[in-house]
This record gives sequence, structure tokens and C-alpha cells, in this order.
Amino acid sequence: MKEFSQRQIETLSSFVPPDRFSMGQSNRKLHLHDISFHQGTLPAGIIWPTTTKETAKILAWTYEHGIPVTPWGAGTSTEGNPVPTRGGLVIDTTRMDRILEIRPADLQADVQPGVLRKELNRQAGKHGLFFPVDPGADATIGGMIANNASGVQTVKYGATKDYVMRLTIVLPDGEAIHTGCKAPKSSSGYDLTRLFVGSEGTLGIVTEATLRLTGIPAHHLAATIAFNQLENASAAVALMMGSGLEPAALELLTPGLIKLMNTEKELGLSESPSLFCEFHGISKTALQETANMTREICENCGAVDVKFGVEESKREELWRARHEAWETIHRAHPGKETLIVDAAIPISRYPEMVVFSQDLVDKQNAIGYVFGHAGDGNLHVVLVGDPQNKDDWQVLEDINHHIVMRAVELGGTCTGEHGIGIGKRKFMEVEHGQSYHLMRRIKELVDPKGLMNPDKIFI
Ligand SMILES: Cc1cc2nc3c(=O)[nH]c(=O)nc-3n(C[C@H](O)[C@H](O)[C@H](O)COP(=O)(O)OP(=O)(O)OC[C@H]3O[C@@H](n4cnc5c(N)ncnc54)[C@H](O)[C@@H]3O)c2cc1C
Repeated sequence: MKEFSQRQIETLSSFVPPDRFSMGQSNRKLHLHDISFHQGTLPAGIIWPTTTKETAKILAWTYEHGIPVTPWGAGTSTEGNPVPTRGGLVIDTTRMDRILEIRPADLQADVQPGVLRKELNRQAGKHGLFFPVDPGADATIGGMIANNASGVQTVKYGATKDYVMRLTIVLPDGEAIHTGCKAPKSSSGYDLTRLFVGSEGTLGIVTEATLRLTGIPAHHLAATIAFNQLENASAAVALMMGSGLEPAALELLTPGLIKLMNTEKELGLSESPSLFCEFHGISKTALQETANMTREICENCGAVDVKFGVEESKREELWRARHEAWETIHRAHPGKETLIVDAAIPISRYPEMVVFSQDLVDKQNAIGYVFGHAGDGNLHVVLVGDPQNKDDWQVLEDINHHIVMRAVELGGTCTGEHGIGIGKRKFMEVEHGQSYHLMRRIKELVDPKGLMNPDKIFI
């Protein structure tokens, strides 16, 4: 469908005040792209509900009239996850942005889905608490739930799925349901909360969530550790993880990316394969012991430069630079697009996977930056090119394909954190086999008309 009829416009306008429904071209275009190169189809309109009740009314109507619906958070996905592919209505969740309650004694917060991660942390911080999942981008909680986002601190604190206790969801036909509970544990029936986490808005719209929070750590210790060989850096990762050190972040960076970061931000880092790590602890003494052990492990693996105790301002600068890696790559290659590999494998296989990926990039003479959340086996390769140049782009697609196939062979996955969206659908069957067909049956059961975020996850 391209445009709404006059009657449809009148109905949609009756659901919300005039400033919360738009058919303006600029709003429609703003909701056509996430940060990836994936192309969508211009939605016919955007609506901004503020409550479960409004969302339910809207979805009951779209369902009855067969109108495709795409939920939208902050639009920071990397695989076309919130990109409308059949026009229709975009439900923008950003005005469902209230933190309903923070209960410090329970370590919990009730939020609407449009709350931004950083705002939640500002408010939770007043109680000495935080929501530790940190994808870098200031994403909405709804978008993070839908993508099961994670980030640099997942190695210690876990992914979004580990923090979602209870959800209110409006199903594609407009029925509102609750899943889960506010008790710290439950073994009551099927875990529907986990079904909706990571479902990328294909099963319904999250309109409220109860999240677990955790205490802000008393002390931090950051380190940069340089190696002269990539194999050595990645080998140190498995040893550190196996030694009980429990890093709060353990990131691998390769020289090409560090060079770009140095050029842009004058960081003065050694341009060799490196680990950025951070440890959180209850005392400085405990962290000192951690530092000693880390140094020993890394030097045994051939580390050539181990710098500990990175002071606070430098620590923030370092993590900001790491979080902005993707933007830095884009700025270094103006006019180009990126294809982001997001494979994850068991940590024991991380070293060979890193070398395999770097070799593929080098052999193909492609532009590609290898790095990753090494501590949780998540490898990124940001491949740079021009999707309009079909032959060159195919080289990047082939590299992605080889890396994913290798990851799946090693017992891993095509996506550690970004989700399937449009871009990774082709890997679903090979990764999941029969389970992929069960997922499809679940989708058909919950959304028999196929209206919720169509063309995502499934081909
Ligand atoms: C620079 C950069 C770095 C990033 N690094 C990471 C990283 O380290 N780890 C990581 O996990 N991700 C990362 N991402 C990807 C992205 O930030 C996350 O996937 C994030 O969770 C997306 O949230 P969003 O609010 O932007 O959601 P959107 O992109 O708007 O939407 C994401 C998905 O959620 C659905 N959706 C949105 N709201 C709802 C709702 N209320 N109910 C149901 N479905 C909904 C959408 O339809 C879509 O399928 C990065 C992105 C950028 C730009």
C-alpha cells in the first residue's frame, strides 16, 4: 500500500491528538532507514502512541484492515530491523517515554519502551543503580528488548534478556497481554518473556517493561594491552576468561581501527593488536590483585605493552572512542556504506576466527576493520564499500558469508547482538535447521496475517 485513504486518515487521526499522527514526507523519510544500507518502502504515515491503550486501539484497527505495521525505537539498528518494507504504518514508540517507577529496594524499574538507555541510567544512578547493557548508541529500551541488544559490558553483566522480568505487549490483533513477573525467579510455564525479547517487533509491540537493575560498582580499573601478533592478543582472551578474572569489558582491536581512532582523536595508542579491558570491584586492593594476574597472563601470551590504572578522563575517552568506532570508520570513508559482520562463537575458537576473518579481508584486498567484544566471543568486521557497485559489494557479502558459515560450523551464530533484520535472514535456516520452521509457525500463530514488521527475521 502507498497512501492512506481519506477514511483511513480520519480513523487514524481519531486515535491520537493531531501532533501525534503524521503523513508529512519528511517524517515518512526519517522512518525509512536505520543506520544500514538496507532500503525500505516509504511508510504511508507515522503514529506516536503514548499508552498501551492507544497502541491496542491502533493495532486492532490495522489488523482488521490488513495494514502492515512497523515498530520504531531510535532507529539505530544495523540490519534494517525497523525499516518498513511494505509501506503501511510506522508506530514510533519514542513518546512512550516515561519511567513509571524505580524501586531501589527491589533493584527494579518499570518503564515505557521509548525511554532512552542513558536517561534510565541518569535516573537509576540517583539510587546507586544502573542498567548495565550498553550498546553504545543511546537506544530505546523497547528497541533493545526487541533486538536483545548487548554491548561492551555483556561479558560481565549479560545481555538485555538477562534484565527483562515482565512485559506488557500488544499483539498484532490489538490484544494486550502481560508476560513474566516481578519476582527475581519463576519456573511458571513457558518463558514467553524470552520469546518476545529478540523478536524484533515481529510478534507485537512492547508497551511496558519491568527491568532488573544492578548496583553501580565502587571501583573501576581500565587497561590497554598491546601485542605484536593478533593470534597472541586473541589467545590471551580465552585465558583471561578461564582464569576467573571476570572482566567487565574485554574488547579486541586491530591496528587498522586503532590507527583511525588515533588519527581522529589523538589517543596516542600503540597501533598493534590490542585488548581494551575494564574491571569492576568492591575495593582497590581486589582490583590490584586482578591487575597483577592480568599482567602475568598477558605477558605470558606475548604482550609487549601493558598499561593499567588508566585515569578517569582517559578511561572515558578510550571507551567513547571504542563506542564511536563505527562512526569513525564512516568518517574515514565518506560516501561509503558499511556491511557489519556480527558473528559470535565459543571463546576457545575466538583466536582462529579472528585470524580467519582478517585473512579473508586481506586476501580480497577489501576495506574491513576487525574488532569485537572478545570476552563474549562476538566478532565484528566492519566492511566498507559502495552497494551501488554490485561486483565490489558482492566481495563484501562473500566475506560476510564465509565468516558466518565458519561461525555456524564452530557452533556459533550469525548475529551476537544486532539481530536478523533484513540482512541476516539468509542465514537463519542454516543456523537453526528445524527450529527455524518452528519459529515460523510461532510467527504464523501470533501474527496470522503477517502484518507485524513484515519481511524481518523470515524470508
Ligand atoms: C554506533 C552504533 C553502535 C552499536 N553498537 C551496538 C552494540 O554494541 N550492541 C548492540 O546490541 N547493538 C549495537 N548497535 C545497534 C543498536 O543500537 C541496537 O540494536 C539497539 O538495541 C536498537 O535500539 P533502537 O531503539 O534504535 O531500536 P530500533 O532500531 O528503532 O528498532 C529495533 C527493533 O526493535 C523493534 N522495536 C522498537 N521498539 C519496539 C517496541 N516497543 N516493541 C516491539 N518492537 C520494537 C523495531 O521494529 C526493530 O525491529 C549499535 C548501533 C550503532 C549506531
